[in-house]
Amino acid sequence: MPALNWGLIGASDIAATRVIGAIRTSGGNAVGVFSGSAGRARDFAASHGLATATTDLDELLAGDIDAVYISSTNDKHFYQATRALKAGKHVLCEKPLALDAGQAESMVRLAEETGLTLAANHHLPGSPLHAKVRDLVTAGTIGTVLSARVAHAVLLPERLRGWRLGQGTPGSGVILDITCHDASVLNPLLGTPVAVTALAVRQADWNTGGQEDAAMTVIRYENDGQAPVLAQTHDSFTVGYARTSLEVHGTEGTIQVLDAMTQDTGGQVILTTGSGSRTVDVDCSEDLYVTGLRAFTAAVEGTGVPTATGRDGLMALKVALAAQESAISGRTVHIN
Ligand code: NDP
Repeated sequence: MPALNWGLIGASDIAATRVIGAIRTSGGNAVGVFSGSAGRARDFAASHGLATATTDLDELLAGDIDAVYISSTNDKHFYQATRALKAGKHVLCEKPLALDAGQAESMVRLAEETGLTLAANHHLPGSPLHAKVRDLVTAGTIGTVLSARVAHAVLLPERLRGWRLGQGTPGSGVILDITCHDASVLNPLLGTPVAVTALAVRQADWNTGGQEDAAMTVIRYENDGQAPVLAQTHDSFTVGYARTSLEVHGTEGTIQVLDAMTQDTGGQVILTTGSGSRTVDVDCSEDLYVTGLRAFTAAVEGTGVPTATGRDGLMALKVALAAQESAISGRTVHIN
């Protein structure tokens, strides 16, 4: 099959720093960019070697492209993905897929009806570290899973302290930004998320936008015929000196993953059972975004599945929305 031609929707930081390179490494061509600003579109295209730049989404979609990568602000994902799917383009959409579950569900259904590939650009479930954890759990290495904890507390880089922090800005806040990523890892590992309780606060003195920048969440997972599993997440824009991690505790052992929740691939998986503790070998040589782009390309070609399908993106969004609602209402929110 010929290389995929990509149109970029959003002249964003993540496209510039990670995804354009991953498109090229995975064998695709980054052809053009759509931005809301003519100057930004032109500058972005020039900086990244893209042939076309436009402020007209229909013009981008009418071009010689097979797929779009959407990395605009979160409030725009739904309508841009919908227009791209209706124009017959495969869609790799940044997380969160949309701002409400109904919108994300309709994106998923549209992709199914049109036979196009829709994926969420959750890079973490494709990490070899997380694949190894899933393999260990599936093989019964730690017995029955009881609980999991995610530490995803980081310092938001200064260059990203814009729309994410705006109180009242649609799609802002630490929960849609980071808890959503945690759910993309926990859901395929632990089963069906059914209830969520969260607290969120504003901590940083540099956070003049006023939106919450730190949250802790507890999620209850259920699986037929098994005891419920509890997962806890700590997500923050305000912590500068911590390593990220994942712990999974079972009746026969514990798995710890250090540097589990970063944009880079390296990390360490430690397995502790009655026989002692050992580091488990994991090949961390490939960039996580390249892994995601390769999986997306294979899905388009009919030879694989995306790292996070549209439905996976929808389920991650449901957990994040439930956490957000819980943090506002002070109540546990149930997911149906
Ligand atoms: P940016 O703030 O860099 O870009 C988002 C939009 O903001 C762009 O599409 C652009 O609009 C506009 N913008 C960018 N720079 C400027 C500027 N200087 N002045 C005015 N407007 C500007 O966002 P991120 O790259 O941080 O995030 C984009 C999306 O990617 C989000 O949905 C986020 O959740 C997701 N993301 C995913 C990650 C992952 O690992 N999967 C990591 C980081 C982000 P326009 O296109 O109209 O020019």
